[in-house]
Amino acid sequence: YQAKLQNGGFQFFNKSIISTFLRKLDLENELRWAIAKNQFTLFYQPQVSVETGRIEGMEALIRWNHPILGPVSPGEFIPIAEETGIIMDIGKWVLKEVCLQLNRWLSASLVVPAIAVNLSARQFLAPDLASSIHEIVHQTNCNPKHIVLEITESSSMHDIESVLPILHELKSFGFQIAIDDFGKGYSALGYIKQFPIDILKIDKSFVQELTSDSKSAVITKAIIDMSHGMDLRVIAEGVETLEQLECLRRMNCDMVQGYFIDRPMPTEQLEKHYLNEV
Ligand code: C2E
Ligand code: MG
Ligand code: MG
Ligand code: MG
Repeated sequence: YQAKLQNGGFQFFNKSIISTFLRKLDLENELRWAIAKNQFTLFYQPQVSVETGRIEGMEALIRWNHPILGPVSPGEFIPIAEETGIIMDIGKWVLKEVCLQLNRWLSASLVVPAIAVNLSARQFLAPDLASSIHEIVHQTNCNPKHIVLEITESSSMHDIESVLPILHELKSFGFQIAIDDFGKGYSALGYIKQFPIDILKIDKSFVQELTSDSKSAVITKAIIDMSHGMDLRVIAEGVETLEQLECLRRMNCDMVQGYFIDRPMPTEQLEKHYLNEV
C-alpha cells in the first residue's frame, strides 16, 4: 500500500479509510480460524426480577480474544461474521457451548435460570436453521425449555412469511423466544401479534433516556403495557442507574439487565455470585 501510495495512484484514499479497510480484512481472515483456535468464550449477564431482585435469566454474550489483535468487541466482528456467512458456524458454536455449560451447571446441582442466546438475522436465511438447532440440543442432550432464543426486531422484519414457520418449529421444540432491541429500527407492530414470542426486550436507547426524555419514558411505558396486554414478559436492557431502575419499577417492568445490576461476566464469576445449589 505504501508503494502504491508513493506512485500516486491511491493518494485520494486517506489513511483512515485504508486502515479501516485493512482492519476489516484482518478481522475477516482471523475470524475464519477463531473457532478452531479456541479464541471465543461466552460471558453471561444476569437478568433480574424488578420485584425480587433475584436472577431469572442470563444472556450469553460472545467474547473474542485474539492473541495479537487483543479483545475484539461483538459490535465490531458480528457484522463481519454476518456479511461473510461465518455467523452460521459461530451461531452453532455459541448454542452448543451454552448447552454444554447448562449441563455442567445442572449436573453440579445448581439452580440455573433460563439462558438467552442471540440469533443473528442471517441465520434465518439458512434453510436448515431449525434442524441444525435441533441437532445441537439432541447431541448435547439439553432441554430447550432452559433456553431463550433472542432475535432482533430488524432481522425478523424482513420476511415474516419465512421466519414465522421457523419460529413455530423452534417453539415446538420447547425454546422460548424473545424479541431483542425492541423499538430500535423499523418498528412494525403487526408481526408481534403473529410471532410466537414470550419475552420482549426494550432497547437500551429508550432505557438510557428514560429519566431525561419524557418521550422515551412514554414509549417505554407503552411498550410495557402493550406487552402485558399480550401476556409477554418485559426486560429492560441497558439499565445503568438507580433512577432508571426505580422508574422501570413504577412502570411495572418485569426484569432488568444492565451495568447497574452487573456486567457480562465469565462463568466462574457468575456461579460464585448468582448460582445456588438446589
Ligand atoms: P444485544 O444482544 O442487544 O446484547 C446486549 C449488549 O448490551 C451487550 O453488548 C451487553 O454487554 C451490552 N450491555 C449490557 N448492559 C449494558 C448497559 O447497562 N449499558 C450499555 N451501554 N450496554 C450494556 P455486547 O456483548 O458488546 O454485544 C453487542 C451485540 O452483539 C449484542 O447486542 C448482540 O446483538 C451481538 N452479540 C453478542 N453476542 C452474540 C452472539 O453470541 N451471537 C450473535 N448472533 N450476536 C451476538
Ligand atoms: Mg441480545
Ligand atoms: Mg441482538
Ligand atoms: Mg439488545
